[in-house]
This record gives sequence, C-alpha cells and structure tokens, in this order.
Amino acid sequence: MTLHTTSWTPPEQGALFVVAGASGTGKTTLVKEALDAIPGLKFSVSATTRPIRPGEKDGTDYWFLTRDAFTTRVENGDFLEWAEVYGNLYGTLRAPVQQTLGAGFSILLDIDTQGAEQVRQSGIAHTSVFVLPPDLQTLSRRLSSRGTDEKAVIDRRLREAHEQISAAGTFDCIVVNDDLDSAHDQFQAIIVAELLRTNRHSRLVGQFRAR
Ligand code: ADP
Ligand code: 5GP
Repeated sequence: MTLHTTSWTPPEQGALFVVAGASGTGKTTLVKEALDAIPGLKFSVSATTRPIRPGEKDGTDYWFLTRDAFTTRVENGDFLEWAEVYGNLYGTLRAPVQQTLGAGFSILLDIDTQGAEQVRQSGIAHTSVFVLPPDLQTLSRRLSSRGTDEKAVIDRRLREAHEQISAAGTFDCIVVNDDLDSAHDQFQAIIVAELLRTNRHSRLVGQFRAR
C-alpha cells in the first residue's frame, strides 16, 4: 500500500497495537514496513534471554539479557507482560510503553499469544492483530529459508505453531500473510483505521462545530 501522509492528521492520542502469530508467519516483516509507513508509530523493544542472531542489534531488535538479569526485572515488576516462548524468556518493559503513549505516539508490540493474553487481562486499551500463514508447509519453508535458526529450533517452533494459532480467535483482527504486498496493505489498514477513529481527533471535530 502506498500510504500517502502529506495530509495525514496525527491522532491526539496514540494507540497500542499487539501483533502475534506463529514463528515465521511474517510478523517482523510486516511490522518493519508499518513502522516506516505510519507516522508516529514506534516499536516496543522487548527484553529476551534468547541468543542474538546475526544482524540483530541490542536495543534495536531486543534488549538481550541474561536469565538472571531478566528474572530480577520480573521480580521488580518491570514487565507489562512476559512469557517463556520456545525455551527462552521474552517480555515487554512497562516504562517505555507508558512513556511512548504518554508522549502521544503509538506503539506496536510483537509478542506471543501468552503475552497477548496478559495484555488483554491488564485491561489496557489496545487493538490486537493475529498473523496467519497461508498453510503449515509454507510456514515451514519460510522458517528454513530465513536461515537464522538451527534445525532443532525450527522444529520446536513448528511443533508449537498449532498452540499459537489456536489462540487466533481471541484477537480483534486477522491477516493472512500469503502474498506479501496484500498482507502489508491489510496490516497497515488495520492500524490506520484505528488511528483515524473519531475519539482520537476530538479537536479536529470540534473545530467545525457550529457556534
Ligand atoms: P516472524 O517475525 O513472524 O517470525 P519473519 O517476518 O521473520 O517472521 O518472516 C519469516 C521469513 O519469511 C523471512 O525470511 C521473511 O522474509 C519471509 N516472509 C515473510 N512474509 C513472506 C511472504 N508473504 N512471502 C514469502 N516470504 C515471506
Ligand atoms: P523470535 O525469537 O523469533 O524473535 O521471537 C519468538 C517469539 O517470541 C515470537 O512469537 C515473538 O512474537 C515472541 N516475543 C517477542 N518479544 C516478546 C515479548 O516481549 N513478550 C512475549 N510474550 N513474547 C515475545
């Protein structure tokens, strides 16, 4: 989608978005393009104990922590949500999310379904998007061709794909990532529609009210 932002009206209040889906469905790919295309949308950099992949940067892709450091932050109540996913710990730090929303920006969390459930239980207003693969063979092919994980890691992620996908029904929106351009359009359409809701533009609406 070519998102024309020349006359984009930034929302007065940002929004929180949660995206989840089995590993390899294309969440990172969709999120990266949405961050480039949609003004005022920021990425929530999670903390994790998983080993850093080639090309990843500490503080950009994740905050890479030791298990001890992660556990200390859990005990301090620093996480909005956290979970063990594919044998590693992952969590969303509460403070940066609050700061980003407080500054009027929107924020996008790429988290697993356990984390998404915790966000739901927390009562914080958000829009959740579940990304589905066209089928499981395609998912397997994409995980292998990404070339970032060992075979044992890929096998584990595929085994757990069903569990992640079985939670899809609890999400607000679904995007099937088959043709990538279509998936980008649909993913960004969900975010843009939320940011254009009237309740995020009360000044704009008030400006045209009859006196
Ligand atoms: P996730 O973040 O959900 O684990 P990624 O975004 O890393 O998934 O995508 C997994 C792999 O599949 C990457 O190599 C990515 O380039 C590729 N990919 C993503 N979407 C598509 C698509 N629609 N068609 C073909 N390949 C895709
Ligand atoms: P990856 O290791 O491929 O980067 O991520 C593996 C899984 O962990 C993905 O499903 C991703 O969404 C999830 N994940 C990443 N960050 C977080 C987080 O902060 N919290 C939770 N619960 N899951 C996360």
